[in-house]
Amino acid sequence: MTPVTALSVASEIYPLIKTGGLADVAGALPSALLRHGITMRTLVPGYPAVMAGIESALPVHSFSMLFGGPARLLTAHKGNLELLVLDAPHLYNRPGSPYSAPDGKDWPDNAYRFAALARTAAEIGQGLVPSFVPDLVHAHDWQAGLTAAYLRYSGKPSPATVFTVHNLAFQGQFPRELLATLGLPPGAFSVDGVEYYGSIGYMKAGLQLSDRITTVSPAYALEIQGPEAGMGLDGLLRQRSAQLTGILNGIDEAVWNPATDKRITATYDLATLSARAANTRSVRELFDLSPDPDRLLLGVISRLSWQKGLDLLLEALPVLRAERIQLALLGAGDPDLEARFKAAAEAYPGEIGVMIGYDEDLAHLIQAGADALLVPSRFEPCGLTQLCALRYGAVPVVARVGGLSDTVVDANEMAIAAGVATGVQFSPVTGDMLSAALGKTRALFADRAAWQALQRNGMSADVSWRNPAQHYAQLYRSLLASRPRSNA
Ligand code: ADP
Repeated sequence: MTPVTALSVASEIYPLIKTGGLADVAGALPSALLRHGITMRTLVPGYPAVMAGIESALPVHSFSMLFGGPARLLTAHKGNLELLVLDAPHLYNRPGSPYSAPDGKDWPDNAYRFAALARTAAEIGQGLVPSFVPDLVHAHDWQAGLTAAYLRYSGKPSPATVFTVHNLAFQGQFPRELLATLGLPPGAFSVDGVEYYGSIGYMKAGLQLSDRITTVSPAYALEIQGPEAGMGLDGLLRQRSAQLTGILNGIDEAVWNPATDKRITATYDLATLSARAANTRSVRELFDLSPDPDRLLLGVISRLSWQKGLDLLLEALPVLRAERIQLALLGAGDPDLEARFKAAAEAYPGEIGVMIGYDEDLAHLIQAGADALLVPSRFEPCGLTQLCALRYGAVPVVARVGGLSDTVVDANEMAIAAGVATGVQFSPVTGDMLSAALGKTRALFADRAAWQALQRNGMSADVSWRNPAQHYAQLYRSLLASRPRSNA
């Protein structure tokens, strides 16, 4: 096995900074790739949480001026993660989320903040850090989208490039007037380059200019080639479909393991499934739900946004109540959805419990205690919560879209008879179909043997990084074999 070195470029990475699934993927992929002979380092922005969390930081390069101020590149690590950190205080040292200010508005200089990330990635790809010259650069989502553009328009030999779409809905579009300030030549502003409907498209650039494109499930890879999920990029994706593959995400089995999880009330595994009940009791207590084990306890752990379809759950509340299903919802996001869920909890105490916020510990406890976990997304590139749910024996109830349809086996008659069902799917994604799915879930729950079979099948499914890492390794190697190693 020839060793391969790869630079991953990500705007968030677990456990240092996380707003969504991208962080989980960026955090877990490097160690999963090691057994395939691939050494991966990850370039991340030096947000306050990153600067505070890294270990043994050493400067390896300084920039006198990087988009408005001086900056340093540090090598560092966090646990097993090998990092390159772009310490640019004028771009990253501020409160709020990686993408938006505390008032929820996008940072006005996001174009520069993420151009700086991409340009640094490109320079590392071309030898900026002599001790680490990668064979391949793997960029994630729009924040890293310009990496391939900086490589392409530098005119210098470049490493191989892979671009992964975690969510096509966030595309990073900025005014064309920025082109020169971004350090891109006029020729880059073309339909074969970074131009996107008259603007500069960061996601577009990554899709257009990278050697290979991946997205995070086979179903989403197909969906984004159509007009609805393609969100303006479907034409380009159809053109490049020979370079596009879907590779499912896994979950980090060390972080998500009900047999060893320190964040839950009682640990358990397939052989001790009944111990799970202690977690269910804890969830009921925390969410002020009545202690009635005969009622189905439905969990939700989600960003509250249109994508996640939780407005449909509000529509389905009458059915939820008629089926005597209890709800424990942990989520944050859209203020209107937050207010409506809080109002529902006030209206139906003991039945509906809502916690607004982001809480990793509570997310683990809900996975360990809920009977079922609901993910009614309108679109879902891969989805991680349903994978955690499978592993924790919370039966996933999901919309039949994207990665949800690839990872949950619907409990239809055939799948039940074959002993392979792991959850409930519904389609189309409407309040009525969600209501019907809740009725079906309740009926399955009433049959204890059938329910336990679903739980056991789910807990036995392989949701680890083993298969995905093998796919990425194959992709990297076939790409490297197909092109001259121009900077070797
Ligand atoms: P997305 O990246 O679109 O938000 P994913 O399902 O791919 O959705 O990943 C979401 C990740 O964030 C999961 O690991 C999930 O457990 C976590 N998560 C989402 N909302 C919350 C929350 N309110 N508190 C804790 N964890 C959350």
